[in-house]
Parts: sequence; C-alpha cells; structure tokens
Amino acid sequence: MKKHFTRRDFFFKTAGIGTGAFLFPGLSTSLIQERQRGSIPVIVTSHFNETGKNAVEAGWEILQSGGSAVDAVEKAANIIEIDPEDNTVGYGGLPNEKGVVQLDASFMDGKTYSAGAVACLENIKTPSSVARLVMERTDHVLLTGEGALEFARAWGFKEENLLTDKARKIWLRWKEELSQSDDWGVPEHLQDIEKKESYWRDFPDIEHWYGTTNVLAIDRNGNIAGCTTTSGLSFKLNGRVGDSPIIGAGLYVDNEVGAAGATGRGEDVIKSCASYFIVLRMKEGRTPQQACEDALQMITDRYKKVNPGFFPSEKFIAINKFGETGCATMKGSRIPQMSVRNTKGFSRIDGTILYPGK
Ligand code: ASP
Repeated sequence: MKKHFTRRDFFFKTAGIGTGAFLFPGLSTSLIQERQRGSIPVIVTSHFNETGKNAVEAGWEILQSGGSAVDAVEKAANIIEIDPEDNTVGYGGLPNEKGVVQLDASFMDGKTYSAGAVACLENIKTPSSVARLVMERTDHVLLTGEGALEFARAWGFKEENLLTDKARKIWLRWKEELSQSDDWGVPEHLQDIEKKESYWRDFPDIEHWYGTTNVLAIDRNGNIAGCTTTSGLSFKLNGRVGDSPIIGAGLYVDNEVGAAGATGRGEDVIKSCASYFIVLRMKEGRTPQQACEDALQMITDRYKKVNPGFFPSEKFIAINKFGETGCATMKGSRIPQMSVRNTKGFSRIDGTILYPGK
C-alpha cells in the first residue's frame, strides 16, 4: 500500500533534521553569551557542516586581507551553492513539484544601503552572485523567473542543469508516494508485497529536507553585508517564492546595527518580516541572541489565537555591529548551530531552542 503523504506530515517529520549537535541541556546562558562574544572582522553562516566551515574560511581569507564584507559574503555563499551534496541550496537543491530546481537569493550591502534579489531563477548555479549584480548594476531590488534568467545570461552566467541524479531520485520517490490515485510507482498488483518505506527513509544521508543558507559578515571597516540563498521548500508549487529573496524577511542588514537571516518555513518569515524585526530589536538594545528568540516568540504569539499548538520550524541567525552572534530555532531536540570565523579562529556556536518539547 502506498502511503498518502501529507504536507503536514512533511513538516512534522522533517522538523529539526540536520540541525547539528544534540541538545546540551547543561549549557548555561552565561556560557552561551561567552561563546558569542564578538570581534570584527567576522563572517558567519547558518550552515554548520564541513561546507559551511569551508565557506566561512574562504570568506575569512578576503576579510583578513582587508577585503569587503560584500566580497567575503559572495565567496562564502558560492561555496555552499555549488556543493552538489547539499540539497537545500543552489546546484543539487531539491526541485519543485514539477522536478524543476527554482532558486531564490538576496543580497544586502549595509555600507550603501543597497539590496538585490532573484526569485524562481532556473539553471544558474550561483544565484547569490546574480542577486549581487541586481543590487549593484540595476536600480531594482527583485527580478523573477525568466527576467532573472535573462539578466543572468546577459552577465555571462553559464546555464546548467541544476537537478543532480540524487535530487531527481528523491523527487521521483516523493512523487510516487504522493497519492494512491495516480499511476506513479510500482504496478498496483505488486504494491502489497513491495511494502515501501517512506521516502525520507530511503535517503537517510540527506541532511535537510528543507533549508537555506544565510551568510553575514563585517569587514575591517565595520561595513556589514549579508546574503540568503536557497532552493527553497522542496517540492513547492511551481513559481512559489519563499522568504529568502524578500528583503526584510529572509535577510536584513543595517550598518548601524547588524544583520539577520532566516531559514525554515518561509511563509511565516514573510508574514512576520522576521529579519527586519530582529535588526530592529538589536537596535533597541537586545543582543543578537535575544533578538532571534524574540522573533520566534513573535511568530508563535501571532498564531496563538488561530492554533495554539502550531509551532512552525524556523531558525534565525544574527550578528550585531560588534561581531556578537545569535542563533535560535523554534523547536526540535537538536541545538541549532552556526559557523563563525573571526580572529579567534573557526567555531561552531550553539544557539537555543525556544520550544524544545514541541
Ligand atoms: N526558507 C526557505 C523557503 O521557505 C526554506 C528553508 O529555509 O527551509 O523557501
């Protein structure tokens, strides 16, 4: 029997996957604060795996030799985007419901108060670089779909198939389990003995079922830049745009304050303007850690009257202009982490879980 797999199951089954280290209940607030103590220059990413480390190390090379935050952020984001093993960002990202990889990315430069973004961009491995060009070489902020692709082509980006074999197989498996009333999957007369497992169990090595990366940096001159880049929610409707390319939702940078980025269920992040909210909270004197937690709290507070049991999966990271960091996730059992590179070296910093029991 095929299992009917609902979107609701999807969110519950995947919540917390890939969030790194296990819950470490003994970690006191003061220890978390100590680890987050800042210095500049600094570069951080929400990616905490080896690729995340490589990304911030490459960005760090630029920062330590006096390069700009914008250059460091782009370099780091590109490294994550071109990793074919990463199914959440750029090349190798999981496709939409039609099997097409559609990428979203945004860029913001705190020094010039400029922003650029692309949404539903197909066939280009490094959407963050296209977003940077929208920011620097147009008077617009957001290009979408065919227009974004035309713009990328004009700038000489190479068109490539972004759907890796691995991502395609995952998509096909998802499609086969979507419904009992279509003809995808093994022949009906074999289905009882086939006893198919759920599709996520077929691919236990997949790190995330949804995800994104945020890269934020401060250079030697105190200028701040940020980028959020993603293949978006896997198997999304064709043409769906998430929070990542929406300035103020998936990313916000203010040179006078700091920067913030979001991953997770983008629909909530858009409605709450979460990254902008986090930066505003930091401006009011909250630490990056407190500001990330405030944003999660704000989202659940708004759902309370509609559905008090609803805790959508979001993770926020932030830095303030002093290089202090924050990271918090809504729920799950694994402590969220972020990769940080500054003069003290590389570290993976633990954040907090607002609702560990959910
Ligand atoms: N925020 C992304 C989106 O909604 C997905 C994710 O981060 O998991 O497109």
